[in-house]
Amino acid sequence: MTASAASSASRPLIRESLRIAGEKVLRDRVIEVRHPYDGELIGTVPKATVLDVRQALKTARNFRSPLTRHGRYEILMKAGAIIASRRNDLARLITLESGLCLKDSQYEVGRASDVLLFAANLALVDDGQVFSCDLTAHGKNRKVYTLREPLQGVITAITPFNHPLNQVIHKVAPAVATNNRMVLKPSEKTPLTAYALADILYEAGLPPPMLSVLTGDPAEIADELLTSADVDLVTFTGGVSVGKHIAAKAVYKRQVLELGGNDPIIVLEDADVEEAATLAASGSYRNSGQRCTAVKRMLVQESVADRFVELLVEKTRAVKYGDPFDPTVDMGTVIDEASARRFETVVNEAVAGGARLLYGNVRRGALYSPTVLDQVTPDMTVVREETFGPVSPVIRFKTVEEAISIANGTAYGLSSSLCTNRIDLITHFVRELQMGSVNVREVPGYRLEMTPFGGIKDSGLGYKEGVQEAMKSYCNTKTYSLPW
Ligand code: NAD
Repeated sequence: MTASAASSASRPLIRESLRIAGEKVLRDRVIEVRHPYDGELIGTVPKATVLDVRQALKTARNFRSPLTRHGRYEILMKAGAIIASRRNDLARLITLESGLCLKDSQYEVGRASDVLLFAANLALVDDGQVFSCDLTAHGKNRKVYTLREPLQGVITAITPFNHPLNQVIHKVAPAVATNNRMVLKPSEKTPLTAYALADILYEAGLPPPMLSVLTGDPAEIADELLTSADVDLVTFTGGVSVGKHIAAKAVYKRQVLELGGNDPIIVLEDADVEEAATLAASGSYRNSGQRCTAVKRMLVQESVADRFVELLVEKTRAVKYGDPFDPTVDMGTVIDEASARRFETVVNEAVAGGARLLYGNVRRGALYSPTVLDQVTPDMTVVREETFGPVSPVIRFKTVEEAISIANGTAYGLSSSLCTNRIDLITHFVRELQMGSVNVREVPGYRLEMTPFGGIKDSGLGYKEGVQEAMKSYCNTKTYSLPW
């Protein structure tokens, strides 16, 4: 019996309710959630109505949090401790609904505790500023003080499937830390972990009107979440097309949009090729390649390309993929069969256009093997568009300027990885790459949960996430001046 078969025998069906200001509400119409590895029905979540959305928003709008900084600190720290104590259960839930392997899910739960730790500590910091006013000839002997206040209205948060816990907690924890009220709509593909997180926060002492969780059909409920007069800010992480739809809909709302990525790893001829291939493989296959900052293109200077490709294939072969509940597996499924089929299609199209398939492109349902393609050209769909899965396309280049031009040559601008030790070239790339981040000798996704994170061009409007920046964007800055 496989590990998955064993776990499916003992899987009770999860029947989730909405959380409207903490109250559990069932609805007749439901969305089914299936385990991507075997397609088994694992749970249902309600389809909220527009009236449910209005009620959640209104309750939140009318609530003023009484929590002190210390109160928020305690809730966030306690939630972090609960998450740490339930690490295995939460990891299993993530694996169940996403098909991510247990190694990835365990890592994700660990990150969630870090997010809470940073949010808790930043809740203690008063980052108000003081400006003396006698600085110029026009000055006076007064002072201007700044004060950050929670928004008057509610924050709508909409999250993607790829990190069922981390994407959600990166929106919720800064909201708690800043005393805001949030209505969250998680991905309908991975909604169960978001409900579990809400319950943990209530258990840790969060006043329920500060967080509601609603699942439903975006076609029915999204407009209300985006346009209601009760909403002041929409924070969205997901794909470009939905992000641009939201940008057009949520008129005169503040918008934080974290969209797709097409991140390159750029390997120059002086690089440690072994290290570069290790980074490329882990950046491409972790989380089944479903990270906005996954390595999605490998740009390698011609003189080291043969060696790089040889090592990349070797490291790809070593990736054990399969049943996500097998604790020895390095990579589980992607989110669904339709996505896996899409990878097959773009890889086949690249091969038909002259690329060489060196490993993989094998699919069974939503299980798609790690895949290496060499001799890819920048015009091929597999690299021109975002391939949100475990595909490693290698593009060979001759000159530094050519690498920069290819790296900047897509609609995206999220992050990047650069493998070289030449400081002159590092500074040149950092200046020239049109990206939100450049990580030298690290994967594009490297960051702390606290550091600023986010992209430009089609990857986002430039407003950053990461706990510190999210807290800033969730506040109004008020100034007041005093005569002393
Ligand atoms: P998606 O855009 O399909 O869905 C994201 C969310 O939007 C879901 O909750 C979905 O229900 C909701 N949605 C769908 N239609 C909507 C509408 N009309 N109005 C409002 N909301 C609507 O994205 P996905 O497939 O879940 O996630 C994958 C994408 O997310 C990839 O492109 C990936 O790069 C991106 N992503 C970006 C970041 C980042 O920080 N930049 C992080 C993770 C993922």
